[in-house]
Amino acid sequence: MRILVVEDEPKTAAAIRKGFAEKGYEVDLCLDGSEGLRLAKTGNYDLLVLDLMLPGRDGWSILSELRAAGVSLPVIVLTARDAVRDRVKGVSLGADDYLIKPFAFAELLARVQSVLRRASGTMPEVIRIADLELDFARHRAARSGSPLDLTPKEFALLAFLARRRGEPQTRATLAAAVWDMPHEGESNVVDVHVRRLRAKADDPFERKLIQTVRGVGYVLREHA
Ligand code: CA
Repeated sequence: MRILVVEDEPKTAAAIRKGFAEKGYEVDLCLDGSEGLRLAKTGNYDLLVLDLMLPGRDGWSILSELRAAGVSLPVIVLTARDAVRDRVKGVSLGADDYLIKPFAFAELLARVQSVLRRASGTMPEVIRIADLELDFARHRAARSGSPLDLTPKEFALLAFLARRRGEPQTRATLAAAVWDMPHEGESNVVDVHVRRLRAKADDPFERKLIQTVRGVGYVLREHA
């Protein structure tokens, strides 16, 4: 997998490059908007991570130019925390996902993996289990039609379990998958987040979907 990162802040760019390299992705960095657009059009990349405020040419114009040229390269936009309206604008311009700065690399990695999976067409965009509905494109979850107010980590945890419904997951697997960290001594983090997730996604509802598997971890399934 080859990723193009167009980002002019040296620290952010370096952190992204290092993170992807550690995960075995090939990364090309570009600090300038015009050069970024040229590279994105070459067809040499599987995904574009695009900052919005750039010298040369801004991210919006790169995105609209790419889409106008019929380039379907998946794009993840990095944007400032308060630019809420940008999110809407980005959707209409055809970005595949967004990340608000500052972000943890694990979060970017999760988005990248999700966008790449969707781009390869192997993952459904919506999963329904009983009355639970998970919309991966919009990072939204609902039960019985009522939206669940989940943090990104809670959503990631729920999504991970939902994609492997009926298959018990160990705390170590969950820690590695959702938090991108070694599991040694971290199982408590998983338990704490599962408790918070249950409080929102299970406790208010009669049917409990997230179940504890004694001596193993957790599983999401319709029936006990
Ligand atoms: Ca910038």
